[in-house]
Amino acid sequence: MKSSKKKLSPDDAELRKSVKPVICYPTDSLKSPNMNDYLIARKNLKKIDQIIIPPRDAKCFRVPKSHFFRIYCQNGPQVGDLNLWNEHNLNEKFYSGKTRALYGTHLSTNDRLWSSLPYLRPMATITHDTLDWYGFDDDGGSVHDVIGTRCDPYTEKILSNKEYHFCCHSNLIRALSNYKNISYKEVENYIHDVLNVFMCTGFTKDTHQYFMKASPVRIGDYIEFFSEIDLLAGLSACPGGDCSLSHSSDDAVCYSLKVEIYECLNNDLKNWREPETSNYSGDHKN
Ligand SMILES: [Zn+2]
Repeated sequence: MKSSKKKLSPDDAELRKSVKPVICYPTDSLKSPNMNDYLIARKNLKKIDQIIIPPRDAKCFRVPKSHFFRIYCQNGPQVGDLNLWNEHNLNEKFYSGKTRALYGTHLSTNDRLWSSLPYLRPMATITHDTLDWYGFDDDGGSVHDVIGTRCDPYTEKILSNKEYHFCCHSNLIRALSNYKNISYKEVENYIHDVLNVFMCTGFTKDTHQYFMKASPVRIGDYIEFFSEIDLLAGLSACPGGDCSLSHSSDDAVCYSLKVEIYECLNNDLKNWREPETSNYSGDHKN
């Protein structure tokens, strides 16, 4: 936090601060998803599976490539912490930091969820978002962020000296451990920073600290993704509930989340191809 200034400003401080910002990662040269094909395909879907994520818990589920999946608010305002892996290689996992660098702090329709280095390819594309009307509010807040991490027991222990075992980090560990039948210790390194589904967040205007506020999500709202690769997904129904007050405790009212998985009925995606992993040589030399 840059709350105290110890150094006097140089004479040309205003000049130095007034230079124009430059977008770090312009996306003009990125190959755009063919949203038109996705929009046609999503009109002819058949539901093939449904998963209920209980409050303060997580579950893993498989989504084959070229399928759609939706995360629904089904009983009351509730946020979810989403992890994504390549089903065949857990080392290829969602890279929230680079996704943020490409698209900004919060995601919505047309944005893609990119995988970690050295793979760096779209894992999923957001094809529908019933909360896209929200945009940004007067506090600078919005929904579906990639600026948070995931609530975890280590940070909670440092801040409150309490042990809490149902943070999203722990929920995702239990879910992945159960799904893969391997120990908590072995799966912990695969748990990564999340897409905060339905969570309303931003940075405060004065201190630029991460804030949360009551999610605007209501029963029936959903966010929909197209799976660009064979996915294993982990979703935690955060102990923060709608994140209006607190998290990392049993204090908040929490609800379950529903996931629905769909296959495409027609041949609407005949031109779709699975994205290739990065073709950088990997040489890293001078
Ligand atoms: Zn959480």
